[in-house]
Amino acid sequence: MSPRPRRIRLEDWTRRYAELRAAGLSEPSYGGPLERHVLDGDLRLPKLLYDDSPAALRLWNFLLTEEDRLQAARAEGKKLVGAMKDLGTVPVMAWSLPGVVAFYPDGAWWIPCVMELSAGLLAVADRLGVDESFCPVRAMLGAFLTEAHYPIPDLLTCNAGAVCDDFSAIAQRLAGLGHPVLWWESPHRRRPDPGEEAVELPGGFTAPRGHVALVREELARIREALGRLAGLPLTDERLAEGIRAANRVRRVLRELRDLAYTADPCPLPALEMLIAEMLALHFCSDREEALAVLGELLGEVRGRVAEGTGVLDPGAARIFWVNPVADLSAMNLLEDCGGRVCGTDYLFSHALDEIPGDLEPLEALARMAVADPMTGSAADRAERICRDAARFGAEAVLVSRIPGASHCATEGRIIGDAVDRSLGLPVLEIEVPPLIDSVRAGISGRMEALVETVRRRRRA
Ligand code: SF4
Repeated sequence: MSPRPRRIRLEDWTRRYAELRAAGLSEPSYGGPLERHVLDGDLRLPKLLYDDSPAALRLWNFLLTEEDRLQAARAEGKKLVGAMKDLGTVPVMAWSLPGVVAFYPDGAWWIPCVMELSAGLLAVADRLGVDESFCPVRAMLGAFLTEAHYPIPDLLTCNAGAVCDDFSAIAQRLAGLGHPVLWWESPHRRRPDPGEEAVELPGGFTAPRGHVALVREELARIREALGRLAGLPLTDERLAEGIRAANRVRRVLRELRDLAYTADPCPLPALEMLIAEMLALHFCSDREEALAVLGELLGEVRGRVAEGTGVLDPGAARIFWVNPVADLSAMNLLEDCGGRVCGTDYLFSHALDEIPGDLEPLEALARMAVADPMTGSAADRAERICRDAARFGAEAVLVSRIPGASHCATEGRIIGDAVDRSLGLPVLEIEVPPLIDSVRAGISGRMEALVETVRRRRRA
């Protein structure tokens, strides 16, 4: 039997890395010791806890070298597409074309945390009048102005409309600064009226057919623009192959989530699972490698589940987590407090569901885009959260509020009420800023209270 997997600190990874290398670890080109990323300015890394497997090492190295990959793609003459806000649609289209690489400028969300504010991106946004009354995605403005984090894309797209007004305002500021944006609209998703023609969406909701048709027209404009950029038409055949490739990633991720969120003891920490889920959005700028990285993680988790081992003690309180956290260390903190993540809604559940493979490709993508949880009501989102929390056997729900995010002003209450009504589970709402250090004690006290509530309910 292998040694019990553990969560370890960065300094422990230094020794572990040497041991693995001595034992013959073979790594991809972006491999290497994790601590080297601290020298690049990723100052938060020494304060996090990591899974100790080679699969996790590969995951972290893959994540932390994305900027290098984008620079290399630019140097090779590939076309770069910055796909803003849609979380899972335009990248599937862009990756269907040879010589095109898509990424999310929105990923700048995490730079203030990972670099512990040293990059000054939020200060740049402040100077542009986009202050902390906006969500941390405002860091993206600083990333564009400093050009220190990713190359300026050859084509910038932005999903606008019902999807997120914070984001639209920030992207408009970007456009005003001279970065042309190809906007595409998502109207507010509503339930079909009685007698109105409806279509089923991935994830289980329905929408009026006319509504899907509108988004499909919007995506047709994106398709034309991508074809012009690549110098090749984005044909149905290419799109269908792109959808199949995206679905391969989503299927691996689905099995990974099913195992990691249900097995006891917990086989993989919440932090690595958060990163794994994010790979489904844009493949971290290398679609085939993203699949390989997820496949290795899945292999590790399958092995742990078969051996009955995990990174946490058995019986940890099963918490369903809602919304991504600006400070990654919050994921460690829940586990330090006796909890574990057993299911998530990080605002992109539509990017985890398989894209229908039996439809004309643009129709399939339009249905997926319409299923984006942020284009519907908070009540719809709450309904899916309840469904997923029940499926994963959650014992409590934690809603992490995003500072400045307009949807967070009211959705916590709506989600909490729905969870209480339909599942009768305790709900905790906390706010997680880009660095939680000054509020860590308060957050940890509330997490401990939630875990204790779960334990008391088990004894009752
Ligand atoms: S986290 Fe919320 S407010 Fe921020 S960009 Fe995403 S959807 Fe918009």
